[in-house]
Amino acid sequence: MVGGGQLARMTHEAGIPLGLKFKLLSDTPQDSAAQVVSEVVIGDYRDLDTLRAFAQGCDVITFDHEHVPTEHLRALEADGIPVRPGPDALVHAQDKGVMRAKLAEIGAPCPRNRIVSDPADAAAFAGEVGGFPVILKTVRGGYDGKGVWVVRSEADAADPFRAGVPVLAEEKVDFVRELAANIVRSPHGQAVAYPVVESIQVDGVCDTVIAPAPDLSEQLAGEAQQLALRIAAELGVVGHLAVELFETRDGRILVNELAMRPHNSGHWTQDGAITSQFANHVRAVLDLPLGDPRPRAPWTVMCNVLGGDYPDMYQAYLHCMARDPQLKIHMYGKDVKPGRKVGHVNTYGDDLADVRERARHAADYLRGTITE
Ligand code: ADP
Repeated sequence: MVGGGQLARMTHEAGIPLGLKFKLLSDTPQDSAAQVVSEVVIGDYRDLDTLRAFAQGCDVITFDHEHVPTEHLRALEADGIPVRPGPDALVHAQDKGVMRAKLAEIGAPCPRNRIVSDPADAAAFAGEVGGFPVILKTVRGGYDGKGVWVVRSEADAADPFRAGVPVLAEEKVDFVRELAANIVRSPHGQAVAYPVVESIQVDGVCDTVIAPAPDLSEQLAGEAQQLALRIAAELGVVGHLAVELFETRDGRILVNELAMRPHNSGHWTQDGAITSQFANHVRAVLDLPLGDPRPRAPWTVMCNVLGGDYPDMYQAYLHCMARDPQLKIHMYGKDVKPGRKVGHVNTYGDDLADVRERARHAADYLRGTITE
């Protein structure tokens, strides 16, 4: 796996019961996955020679992030190394412009959008979609809301163009909530769909995921799953695909973006589904039959644990574990920095209000924002 973050750490964990040999290319020995994987190469994934040396002896390569240059992935494929997902699929998760063009071609519902060349062109786009505010995004390099601007005037539109990366303009969708449709697809074309979840963001960062999305009509949930399966098939995705969606006030779904790797909106599956997203990603990448994606409980809630003012979160374990014996804690081994994602908790059960309260409490207590 290329990339040493928490997604690699948890994918590695899912491979252990299968007896897999897991090799990691990581930026530093301190990275979340590098701390726990036995075979670690420290190096820069942007360097082709490093990637080639790393790939020696690997049966297949997969990723914990989308940043490996497309041309490097093509070079690995030309060397005969299976890359999953492959570069032709992955480019749609790397470049929002390419993604929007492809989704338009296959008729997937999206916010109105186009590439804009400068602030005046962004203002022209605003005119086409009913006026400001509009959303501007750099097509590459954004994450957790970085690289996304809500722009209210032409004068306001200068920043996104400073990076020298093409800028995509989108209508600002009046959404009631954000959903995610997560599926896993294998090279032989088998696919499984997880229940559609609601994902709640705070300050542009995923805070809570509720599985399944409360009060989502069966019709819209089915549509979202079908859409994700169709996108995966049309783009040739192998492995886990997260389709982030907006649910609009008038009951439609629109695609926000795609992630082709295990995803934060799927962390609930570790404890809430029969087969986790990590286990199914591993199976897909190895072209093994996929596991059952169905939930184990009526409700599962995931809350991310962000770093707070206390560097030692382990002190909080005593209280959290004593309060809720069913609580599942997943910490990533990262140094605590304020606002940084350092772990998550999962809770499940029959009563949504109770399940939510327990997850919220544990995440807040671990962060140190509450003390009882
Ligand atoms: P990132 O790559 O950082 O995850 P996203 O494209 O998912 O960026 O955008 C981050 C957030 O910005 C979204 O979760 C959503 O809240 C908001 N956003 C993005 N695009 C739109 C849009 N077209 N309309 C309204 N809000 C949007």
